Amino acid sequence: MSAPPPLAPPLLAWFAQEGRHDLPWKSPSSPYRIWLSEIMLQQTQVQTVKPYFARFIEAFPTLQDLAAAPLDAVLSLWSGLGYYARARNLHRCAQTILREHGGIFPEDPAVLVTLPGIGPSTANAIAAQAFNVRAPILDGNVKRVLARYFAVDGWPGSPAVASTLWALADQETPAAAPADYTQAIMDLGALLCRRRPDCARCPVQAGCESFRTGTVGERPAPRPRKDRPLRRRFFLLAFDGEGALFLKPRPPEGLWGGLLSLPEFEALEELNAVLAAEGLPPGANAWTQDAPFEHGFTHFRLEITPVHVHLTGPGETGAFYAAERWPTLPLPAPVKRYLRGLSERRTTDGENGVLPLFPENPGRS
Ligand code: SF4
Repeated sequence: MSAPPPLAPPLLAWFAQEGRHDLPWKSPSSPYRIWLSEIMLQQTQVQTVKPYFARFIEAFPTLQDLAAAPLDAVLSLWSGLGYYARARNLHRCAQTILREHGGIFPEDPAVLVTLPGIGPSTANAIAAQAFNVRAPILDGNVKRVLARYFAVDGWPGSPAVASTLWALADQETPAAAPADYTQAIMDLGALLCRRRPDCARCPVQAGCESFRTGTVGERPAPRPRKDRPLRRRFFLLAFDGEGALFLKPRPPEGLWGGLLSLPEFEALEELNAVLAAEGLPPGANAWTQDAPFEHGFTHFRLEITPVHVHLTGPGETGAFYAAERWPTLPLPAPVKRYLRGLSERRTTDGENGVLPLFPENPGRS
């Protein structure tokens, strides 16, 4: 069996006719816009990214604007895209480029990869697309295309398979027109060589080893199954007399780092103890619990039980947020979704619509 022919010639010919030439970060194109889009596109689809990209560019038209913005403003615009470390790194990266590179994006992938939030594939994608440097990329789309075209078995996330795919990515990336080739192979993965591929319309079908052997459905191999554990948490919604909600910043690192969120507890006893002892204004009453809901992460599932407490005290200024502000705050996506539902219920019911948590109101000592 001979090796499949090079991908570039048929791929580039197809891209000229059928590729995505209207992506907002390419018209007009600049290193800043390419970098922003590449960070947003990590783990996220083009259609989802487009409105976020438009809002970001409107709020921060230049690298200098982004670097000078408060982190809260960046996180707020990012809210809903998930993987918030990306937004924090984006902000740090803008400041680093300004401070250490005079505000000019480095062209060399070896330098780009040293910047916050930029891994090897992203560094190469920026170098290829912004500066037409020959630099292979290996994002999810490219892994799928290469695994099928060259019939590479095994889960692409494993080091051995990833190393084979990197070698193939390097081998196939041409010296001529690397920017077009990079966009072309991403487009092929996004438009035709999808999870359910459209092989009939594929420009590289003639050389595709999986197509030839009728094994397209076997590649890429899925991640080995591992059950994700369930974490149960209670999220406290403490409302003041005006209906404003108590929110506090999460620690800068870790899950939802730096976002505003609801106080979180592993057990109700812990929540009760905090409320009874200190930390919130006096006069808590009407402790109630809403139905639990789940939010999925890569490595675990989170079951959130909202617990509502109504406070008759004056509240801590600066930590309570009126309902009109909730949609624009930098909140984790499940919290934002829950608050949106709560606002709608309040509008239709005139009440919170929550269930009693304690048969008797324990109040506060
Ligand atoms: S022939 Fe099918 S499996 Fe092979 S690269 Fe094209 S779309 Fe993917």
